Amino acid sequence: MSETFALICGGIGGALLGSFTTMLVWRLHNDETGIWTGRSKCPECKKTLSALELIPLISWLVQRGTCKNCGKKISAFYPLVEIVFVISGIIFVQFFYSEIWWYMGLKLILVFFALILWVYDTKFFEVDRRISWPAILLALLLAFVEGGTQSALIGGLIGFSLFAVQYFYSRGRWVGAGDMELGIFMGLALGWEKTIGALFIAYILGTIIALPLLLLKKKNMKSPLPMGAFLMPAFLIMLHSGDQIIEWYINFFIF
Ligand SMILES: [Zn+2]
Repeated sequence: MSETFALICGGIGGALLGSFTTMLVWRLHNDETGIWTGRSKCPECKKTLSALELIPLISWLVQRGTCKNCGKKISAFYPLVEIVFVISGIIFVQFFYSEIWWYMGLKLILVFFALILWVYDTKFFEVDRRISWPAILLALLLAFVEGGTQSALIGGLIGFSLFAVQYFYSRGRWVGAGDMELGIFMGLALGWEKTIGALFIAYILGTIIALPLLLLKKKNMKSPLPMGAFLMPAFLIMLHSGDQIIEWYINFFIF
């Protein structure tokens, strides 16, 4: 597989999975049946979208963020999801360069789980157990395969405790119960060293994004922040470049 071809496949695969995920998350949230069938619809008028209306970002821009059928505004979150998926596809397709195809396949599913959790939490401020628990089990399985079980279990414990303390102390006002599951997932998948890195990045992202919203008074301190919106991007950054980031950090601050 040539490198260019792989990148194109990653981008296209990402775009397809992005559309699929939006549909999946909406149907899981509304408890609709038929998750695996049917095409994407306009969220307002439910008209099935044509192939031309499903081109990531471009369709949304061409139609100036409105539906061709009903003319209602379509949230910028949809194209954002598509861009994130296309970029993730291009970046993570490199996992396929390894010879152990089934292991790399499982790693890609792990990435996919993180992206689904990200879309769900960002949109609905919820963590769906039908996604988070399979994700946790997969992370545990991969830790066994990689022989990093000890680091993974410590990571899971760190991720869980951090959110459990906040959850019980604030009686669910600061973080949700689902954030504990995200913490376990992240810790198991990354091991404790990278988990600490991911938590730092998540809080930096949270501050950069939440502070302007607070200042603009769009949110007040009582609005629950969807932690997953920051945790999952931080998780993917550490999953991809954790080793380099930790090395950079050690060189920069310690030596
Ligand atoms: Zn419509």
